[in-house]
Amino acid sequence: MTPAPAVHSLVIAVRCHFCSRQLPAFRTHQIADAQTICDDCIEWHNKALEFLAGAPPPGCQACGATWEFLRDSTPGAEVRMYVVPADGIYQIRCATCIRGYLPKRRDLYRETPFGARALKIWPRRGNLWVI
Ligand SMILES: [Zn+2]
Ligand SMILES: [Zn+2]
Repeated sequence: MTPAPAVHSLVIAVRCHFCSRQLPAFRTHQIADAQTICDDCIEWHNKALEFLAGAPPPGCQACGATWEFLRDSTPGAEVRMYVVPADGIYQIRCATCIRGYLPKRRDLYRETPFGARALKIWPRRGNLWVI
């Protein structure tokens, strides 16, 4: 009696250009310039567009905090959420995560009124960004 043939499943992992996760190919999509985007990033991009149109933000894409958590854990009346352009899509980040993100995008925000005033990003001092 011959043994039953082994069943192999082959899942091709593809890296999402935006969140850098490796995902099965069926969860990713090919967009302009041969970039690959996963369904999570598309969903967040759509949520960011809805947020910009006035809908409540769903939370932070980077740390996963929900809007309810951010609202309830932020002292004061105002919770700031940030929509950042990332290679052609939008991502939503909380105030904590934006601090880690902005220094990487100093090409965009350095010495702009937005960077200096709203986000308190000042010109670079040595290797430190003063926020
Ligand atoms: Zn992704
Ligand atoms: Zn966050």
